[in-house]
Amino acid sequence: MAPRTHWLFGDQLGPHFLDPRHGGPDEDAPVLMIEARSVFRRRRFHRAKAHLVLSAMRHRAAELGDRVRYVQAETYAQGLAEARDRRRKDPPRLTVHHPTSRAALTFVSSLDQAEIEILKPRGFLLDHAEFAEWVKEHSGGSLRMEGFYRWTRRRHDLLMEGGSPAGGTWNLDHDNREPPPKNRSTLGVPEPWSATEDEIDAEVRHDLDRWERDGDVSFVGRDGPRRFPVTRREALAALRRFVSERLTDFGRYEDAMLAADPVMSHSLLSVPLNLGLLDPAECVERAENAWREDGAPLNSVEGFVRQIAGWREYVWQLYWHFGEDYRTRNSLRHTAPLPDWFLELDADAITANCLSTVLAQVRDTGWTHHIPRLMVLGSRALQDGWEPAAVTDWFHRCFVDGYDWVMLPNVVGMSQYADGGLMTTKPYTSGGAYINKMSDLCGPCAYRPTHRTGDHACPYTAGYWAFLHRHRTTLSANHRMARAVKGLDRLKDLDELLDAAEDRGDLAP
Ligand code: FAD
Ligand code: SF4
Repeated sequence: MAPRTHWLFGDQLGPHFLDPRHGGPDEDAPVLMIEARSVFRRRRFHRAKAHLVLSAMRHRAAELGDRVRYVQAETYAQGLAEARDRRRKDPPRLTVHHPTSRAALTFVSSLDQAEIEILKPRGFLLDHAEFAEWVKEHSGGSLRMEGFYRWTRRRHDLLMEGGSPAGGTWNLDHDNREPPPKNRSTLGVPEPWSATEDEIDAEVRHDLDRWERDGDVSFVGRDGPRRFPVTRREALAALRRFVSERLTDFGRYEDAMLAADPVMSHSLLSVPLNLGLLDPAECVERAENAWREDGAPLNSVEGFVRQIAGWREYVWQLYWHFGEDYRTRNSLRHTAPLPDWFLELDADAITANCLSTVLAQVRDTGWTHHIPRLMVLGSRALQDGWEPAAVTDWFHRCFVDGYDWVMLPNVVGMSQYADGGLMTTKPYTSGGAYINKMSDLCGPCAYRPTHRTGDHACPYTAGYWAFLHRHRTTLSANHRMARAVKGLDRLKDLDELLDAAEDRGDLAP
């Protein structure tokens, strides 16, 4: 029988999505790809993100050559209809791997099931059934990442020695929280892999310019030279470079920030991972080999494995586990709209050096590492009481690695505490002291991290206390926050701080 056509979504671009083994598509299946313009019309994405997704899809189509039918249509439904008309001679059924968003899954599930077979998800270490097994084992207990990560390591025999964690301990986080080295503006590690644009990138840029000129779509941010991989070959080169040249320093300064070195020792692999160009298993295996065979330090290797086999996997599973209404959780009842300067990525309008620096990184590249996302951007949104769903939408649109599945738990749960603690044990926010300790951003700032009130009051320090005050009752019931909340009683200038915050509407940018 002739193989069925397999439909590839734009985040399913690696070879493992066309592998007929283990429940994949038919051997040598013809491939269908649909570039749906409505995706960009619906929301105002970062232009670099639109560029990356289109470039990656078109590069994949070019690689697949005659095997692929690449349809440019307004919507997926129209693309399917067009492909169906041209496919009359083919067997009537399609296959597709389980998509990564609820909306796309709902769409493919709504199609005539005589026409389409949904294959199991790819691109993650565990399937939903394995996660359900872990949840069952922990029913009644907490579903914290640490327990899940250890379970996954055992199950996949990752960084294990004779049934115990390598080095005798599961968690080397205490080695991975160093402030940046003093008197250095960069970490001085080898540069990450960098991209060379080709004619497909030029064509994408040309199309995006035209769509914008025609008023069809509107973007935010700058579409500078492409920085991230869009093909399997580029993704493997980026992974190789990270593991051989940069993994060594990954752990130690994982949480630090340097204004002139936004990437530091981070891997920049979230884009190729989330486009499906890399499989997480190969990333963690290569990191483990670097420890076993080449002497890479365990704290760096464990830190990296924790990010991928722990956090990434956990977030993917929670997206499906928590259900559709997780998106609208708002346990702290935050309703403030996002300010225009944030929506427009207007970094130049901001006085706070940390926020201005990080917002400029987002404007120029669509990327910052984990700590600026959590402790500068997300913390600001939390302190100012911005509506969590709007914050999630902003992160999704403005980050090159943002997809529904990864944004929801990271923003609703981790960054905005809007799920009331399902994912984290406490809200992640801090005063300027943390940013001062972990970065070189406060030195040149017009504000002082220790000032709560007055002309030089740091908006993060004032915002932190105002946040604790606003949610005093809820937070004092949380054992990890109770001491911080008690600290409010020692503040002699609390009224002045709150009056100033109220006068300004939100805290000074
Ligand atoms: P590294 O620091 O080198 O980490 C290695 C890999 O671990 C990453 O490439 C990523 O695949 C994975 N990883 C680590 N933490 C997470 C996490 N919490 N969730 C999922 N994967 C993780 N990550 C995304 O991939 N897409 C997002 O849209 C995204 N949004 C975020 C929003 C907020 C508010 C926060 C706090 C975190 C978010 N993250 C997101 C997680 C993390 O910030 C990024 O994965 C990381 O910064 C990407 O850079 P990197 O590849 O250099 O990561
Ligand atoms: Fe940010 Fe406050 Fe430091 Fe300025 S002083 S950089 S606003 S934390």
